[in-house]
Amino acid sequence: MQLLLMGPPGAGKGTQAVKLVEKYKIPQISTGDMFRAAVKEGTELGKKAKACMDAGTLVPDEVTVGIVRERLAKDDCKGGFILDGFPRTVEQAKALEKILDELNLKLTKVLNIRVPAEFLIERAVGRRICKGCGATYHVKFNAPKVEDTCDNCGGKLYQRADDTEETMKKRLSVYEESTRPLIEYYEKVGLYTEVDGRQPIEKVTEELENVLNSVEG
Ligand code: ADP
Ligand code: AMP
Repeated sequence: MQLLLMGPPGAGKGTQAVKLVEKYKIPQISTGDMFRAAVKEGTELGKKAKACMDAGTLVPDEVTVGIVRERLAKDDCKGGFILDGFPRTVEQAKALEKILDELNLKLTKVLNIRVPAEFLIERAVGRRICKGCGATYHVKFNAPKVEDTCDNCGGKLYQRADDTEETMKKRLSVYEESTRPLIEYYEKVGLYTEVDGRQPIEKVTEELENVLNSVEG
């Protein structure tokens, strides 16, 4: 299954991708995670991405498309993948189409987790991530059993530098301008389905799985 998981920042893409990875045994490809790893390692890519991420703007298309092209060419993507947070512009969507053509692959489904803007700042500001295993929590909606400690591995939780109210406002305006047009783009392609991301995490997972069951069956 070649899946594309869309939605505004804080919609729950990463949270749901982890569940789909478990169920379908396909890798999650998150450009945001790839950029954060590059920043941590201090690579050239990380240097290019950091300023944009801190400002809440998009990393330039040519940089982003390059890393996705390399990643999708790897062997573990042959049995399917979940793209999370890519594409984010119509240019990226067109580039993805070319990459998939070259690899002889087709998208199976485009899933949009729809969440209105008024929910998203609270979701992002309350987001906490495990330093050890990368698991995502929320201080209110998905709290760890022990404060600031990962349920899975005992690692310490941290807050992303761009998960502030100010940066989120910028990220949401970038979403409206550059990423929302992708909804119409994929509606026209005919692969588009959306789920109501205001619901509890488990309910969103259930709805996504229902959509995918109908594709599989
Ligand atoms: P994205 O990858 O789309 O930016 P995340 O999956 O990281 O979003 O989720 C953003 C924050 O919202 C996290 O703290 C997560 O625990 C929380 N969250 C995710 N889905 C829901 C939901 N359905 N209801 C409430 N909070 C959620
Ligand atoms: P995310 O983890 O998806 O919230 O992404 C965090 C940040 O990484 C974004 O605010 C952008 O600066 C950058 N980023 C992630 N994915 C993309 C993409 N597809 N195109 C451009 N920038 C991206």
